[in-house]
Amino acid sequence: MANSFESFKAGMDSREERRTLLQRDGKPFFVLISQQFMRADIESLCDTATAIRRLDRHVEGRDFLRSMLRGHRIMNLFAQPSTRTAESFIAAADKLGASTRQVSDLRTSSFAKGESVEDAVRTLSSFFDAIVTRHQDDDFAARAAWALSRSGRPIPVISAGSGKSQHVSQSLLDIYTLRYSFAERGGVDGKDVVIIGDVARNRAARSLAYLLARFERPRIHFVSPDAFAPDDALLRYLDRHEVRTTINSSLATLLKDQGGGIDAIYVTRLQQEWDRGNNGIPDATDRGSADEFVLKPEYRSLLRPDCLLMHPLPRVNELPEEWEDHPGFMVWRQVRNGMWIRAALFAAVFGCDGEIRNRAARLRLL
Ligand code: ASP
Repeated sequence: MANSFESFKAGMDSREERRTLLQRDGKPFFVLISQQFMRADIESLCDTATAIRRLDRHVEGRDFLRSMLRGHRIMNLFAQPSTRTAESFIAAADKLGASTRQVSDLRTSSFAKGESVEDAVRTLSSFFDAIVTRHQDDDFAARAAWALSRSGRPIPVISAGSGKSQHVSQSLLDIYTLRYSFAERGGVDGKDVVIIGDVARNRAARSLAYLLARFERPRIHFVSPDAFAPDDALLRYLDRHEVRTTINSSLATLLKDQGGGIDAIYVTRLQQEWDRGNNGIPDATDRGSADEFVLKPEYRSLLRPDCLLMHPLPRVNELPEEWEDHPGFMVWRQVRNGMWIRAALFAAVFGCDGEIRNRAARLRLL
């Protein structure tokens, strides 16, 4: 057990300690960063998501799924704007029969009276079986996990977006989408992925890059404004894990030179809400990416028809609607996949994922 939050955080950087800190009985307990998932964990989560998706097609399958977490209560503690992710976690919990409560305005909670994260989550652990949390502070979820790991009633904490640093459940749904789409093309290994946008501040882009490192020989082409290029810690990690990377400032040049070799493009928006330093909502006039970071419809002929186009949403101008009829446009599938992979995550956290996969296998659904 880490005695201080600082040592808990430092432990998360070490591969060996990370498992002790974040897992219980071989299962994920605190879900905070992409690096905590090994290749086998990712494969098993994806198989569970597919099992849930297929079982959910039939009444008996749905009843079986709903019995998995019946009686469990999940708290969605969301301090930042979210509809998609919050609803996706609620729908995922619902699929497995758990009930959910949502607190999205922390001004109405005791945080407004100056309550510490530690006291707040320990209080919530009396009423709930897991906390899903989104917060503008990079460390909020980790701090909650640390506090609970030292308490007499530890419950799982799942980050649904941590400041500018990570959005682990988003990256799991992105990998699930890539794996499913590349099923007939050798899977995610060896693929060339372009990540466009504000990589320094986009937690979805960063988490995806970290997760791609679990695959064999991927190549990531980052395209971002100089001021928001990928940070050194991320680049060093990718290098250590033999992910080949290129850093580009012009999307047009990259696609003209290498468009035919690209397997997937992950477009993200500029994260202007951080510009004011207060997690504010940017003015409409501030929003949107500069031309160099927009996937323009005229680039279509530079890409293969089977190139995947993805976006974590919300989008502003960076992925225009003209792309929607492209055969590789996966954005709406990503949204749906988010619910399946989050249900798989709950199943793994509460230890019923094996039973779900077995049931699906017996019915020849896997
Ligand atoms: N929805 C994602 C997030 O919460 C991506 C974004 O907002 O740009 O990080």
